[in-house]
Amino acid sequence: MSLDRDKLHESTRANHAPEVVIPAGNKPILSPIYQTAKFSLGEGIPVQSQFFYTRVSNPTLRELELSLAELQKTEDCIVLSSGMAAITGAILGLMKAGDHMITFRESYRPGRIFIRTTLKRFGMSSTVLSLSDLGLLEGSITPQTRIIYFESPTNPHLDIADIKKIVGIAKKHKILVMMDATFGGPHQHRDFGIDVFIQSLTKYVNGHGDVIAGSISGPKNIIHEIRQMTINLGATLDPHAAFLIQRGLKTYHLRYERAAASAQVVAEYLEKHPRIKKVYYPGLKSHPDHELARAQMSSMGGILAFEIDAAAGDAQAFCHRLKLLQFTASVGSSESLICPTLMFFGDDLSSDEAKSLGINSHSLRLSIGLEHPDDIINDRGHSWSHEGG
Ligand code: PLP
Repeated sequence: MSLDRDKLHESTRANHAPEVVIPAGNKPILSPIYQTAKFSLGEGIPVQSQFFYTRVSNPTLRELELSLAELQKTEDCIVLSSGMAAITGAILGLMKAGDHMITFRESYRPGRIFIRTTLKRFGMSSTVLSLSDLGLLEGSITPQTRIIYFESPTNPHLDIADIKKIVGIAKKHKILVMMDATFGGPHQHRDFGIDVFIQSLTKYVNGHGDVIAGSISGPKNIIHEIRQMTINLGATLDPHAAFLIQRGLKTYHLRYERAAASAQVVAEYLEKHPRIKKVYYPGLKSHPDHELARAQMSSMGGILAFEIDAAAGDAQAFCHRLKLLQFTASVGSSESLICPTLMFFGDDLSSDEAKSLGINSHSLRLSIGLEHPDDIINDRGHSWSHEGG
């Protein structure tokens, strides 16, 4: 029953806005942002099938979940307030005290630290292997192993995991495979039998550097199991942020392909530069996993890493000399972003582990944006002018 507004006081009306009825069939092209914490319940419909409270469900968040599930070719999806919330939510949703999981040292540092240290406090254990030694994987599985979790291409050095091998071993032992597919994006790696995909939507999917968000995609039953945990952990995505990500999705493929094409140009340039000791980009023939990457990915993405000659100074000083490339965290944005790998990725690793990953004071991660590749390359003029390089 509608309110008789004329009988209400001004302060009451200010708190109950007039309803705007949209005629049937007269739809907005873009969905509205349901920027509301709660929904009033309709009569005669089961409460469980209605929207009630945004931490549990919200149409703007649901539209994004359905879009991402479709793009990732999974049955369902959960969106959350960060990529880390997706990693921790999925793990806590699937594991219990006594369970064990396996991950790899070639992975995003905060996730690795959570697995290595925080899980122990709750009676769970982990084994951290190297992607370069999958021969140890099967022997590391115990009756308690519940998840094998990996990243590909990896952050920061773009290693490529042999997905068929990992999935084959996991299926044999009935273990879930969870992949952080942030660098490859949700349009790749869809046909390898991965059970659960993690995305930091902060990166390519949103793509404009103005939102922090994450997603977990997978089969309905697994997503249902995880959702029971993530609702209570409370890392809800704000509907306005979901709207921005949905808008980002419109140009996702264009941006990804453009960044990948520019990254190939920049990687080939850097590979020939006399002051560059090493370039890590799976699109280069010199990359040790180039053929594996080609078999697993249709596009190599816009992120690369490289190591400068010691004479060019350390990586941090190098970043400070750049003008166009922004010295900062994150990847997959419209602007090109650069950072020394040691600064963000080294400190939980032993010096031997860091060395084996190629992380040192001269290595950098570069995320290519949407600028013209010539301007990205020319930024080295500022950086190396005093070196004459
Ligand atoms: N996974 C990868 C591969 C990342 O690079 C990041 C962030 O850099 C994350 C997960 C975490 O995402 P967020 O910063 O959105 O929490």
